[in-house]
Amino acid sequence: MSSERRGLLLVISSPSGAGKTSLSRRLAERHPEIELSISATTRAPRPGETDGREYHFVTGAKFNAQAAAGRFLESAEVHEHLYGTPRAPVEAHLAAGRDMLFDIDWQGAAAIHEALPADTVRLFILPPSLDALAKRLHGRAQDSDEVIARRLARARDEIAHWVEYEYVIVNDDFEHAYAAIEDIYRAERQRRSRNPWLTEFVGELTRDAG
Ligand code: 5GP
Repeated sequence: MSSERRGLLLVISSPSGAGKTSLSRRLAERHPEIELSISATTRAPRPGETDGREYHFVTGAKFNAQAAAGRFLESAEVHEHLYGTPRAPVEAHLAAGRDMLFDIDWQGAAAIHEALPADTVRLFILPPSLDALAKRLHGRAQDSDEVIARRLARARDEIAHWVEYEYVIVNDDFEHAYAAIEDIYRAERQRRSRNPWLTEFVGELTRDAG
């Protein structure tokens, strides 16, 4: 029996502070078979962030050189910084039938879906309210008040894209939201189209039965 399967690209978006980064990291930790895509960015690392773990932190010149060389599957300007998804790991993982997880904004989600529609599953996380979002951004205390105010203003714009996603989850409780994401991931892996090995398997199964 061939073990051939097709990898899936799970793209998670939300406004800043709605919990998508913690939810994505939990999924990647609990499911070693899913690889978290590490983006390149021109923004400065926040306290506790390490180059190569949360992001590849690069200068504007390096980012532009990589973009010009076609090294990004998609790239976008978010909150006045550049972000890009490195292309090589995505191609390598898909070819090997492995899954990838993307914590990126609506522009990135749309671009990845356009590039690889059959392989992409899009999931949007909503905060329970804008008040809760503001509290989470303040609680994080890593950004200045001015940055937080800008992010809140942008939250409405990001939320406006919720209709472009196959799945939408309200993160009013971390454990519930996580369980919903895990259910979606498990179900999407079971799709017939992602398991081409089934054709051969069912062929053998019915031959044996005959
Ligand atoms: P932060 O700077 O707070 O980590 O991220 C800011 C926003 O940029 C978040 O919405 C995050 O998901 C998004 N983002 C991170 N990496 C990428 C990427 O490679 N491409 C796109 N389009 N957005 C990204």
